[in-house]
Amino acid sequence: RGKRAFIAGIADDNGYGWAIAKSLAAAGAEILVGTWVPALNIFETSLRRGKFDESRVLPDGSLMEITRVYPLDAVYDSLGDVPEDVKTNKRYSGSSNWTVKEVAESVKQDFGSIDILVHSLANGPEVSKPLLETSRNGYLAAVSASSYSFVSLLRHFLPIMNPGGATISLTYIASEKIIPGYGGGMSSAKSALESDTRVLAFEAGRRHNIRVNTISAGPLRSRAAKAIGFIDMMIDYSLENAPLQKELTADEVGNAAAFLASPLASAITGAVVYVDNGLNAMGVGV
Ligand code: NAD
Repeated sequence: RGKRAFIAGIADDNGYGWAIAKSLAAAGAEILVGTWVPALNIFETSLRRGKFDESRVLPDGSLMEITRVYPLDAVYDSLGDVPEDVKTNKRYSGSSNWTVKEVAESVKQDFGSIDILVHSLANGPEVSKPLLETSRNGYLAAVSASSYSFVSLLRHFLPIMNPGGATISLTYIASEKIIPGYGGGMSSAKSALESDTRVLAFEAGRRHNIRVNTISAGPLRSRAAKAIGFIDMMIDYSLENAPLQKELTADEVGNAAAFLASPLASAITGAVVYVDNGLNAMGVGV
């Protein structure tokens, strides 16, 4: 039987989630997607109208199939956590069962189990503010959407993950080195995500024989990255200073994720794997 993957955090064909889905599909996996509720409509419409068909092409010429798209908001664990104003918000009221617990239940009902869980989402409402100017709410929102969202996904999906399976998240070097401009508590959120990768690797490994890794990816001009505002500068910096002086493609991160999710990586867990043209290894720019 082929593997089944659930990828949380795809809303267009530009981000890392899409590229990971493609690499997993190319390796024979069945693809389920979790899409942020406010972005669901436009994503499904674009998908249906063929807007992504060019980027759906796999190496063998076939088109990636997405078996099902689930609405998801990973800052809410169950219905009881959703505030009234969100419930009645026009962008949310048209969908249902989008809290993490409910999505896991739906996937269980529809497919029984999964083998691969990918977390490719982040959000920091105050990302453009320096940490010193970040509010408590902004900081906690960044950690909720970008770090706890992974804990929650793992918590609710582990019971339906087949032993031997793998989970992957995406992190950024701002967790360990100073990257001015990556503010709003997003650097803190990525530190938490990396630390949690180790602790969760232990817990999920011992209890369920599931591996937990995170990819520290170099800069990509995704929708989320453009919102931060400094992505072109980061891409130029990497081009100038990294050991490999080429632009990083989303596919390179997708392929690394497919490797980490596969039996080829059966002894790798609790790791931060750099897919960044080697930029992390530089001490000074030259
Ligand atoms: P992206 O915009 O393609 O992906 C982010 C996704 O998160 C979007 O689809 C968005 O709808 C979704 N999202 C936001 N809040 C959500 C919520 N509450 N519930 C569910 N989904 C939600 O951008 P990307 O850059 O590919 O980001 C994917 C991951 O890669 C993120 O963790 C990001 O931090 C990480 N990353 C990105 C870069 C980069 O330069 N782009 C570098 C390193 C790491």
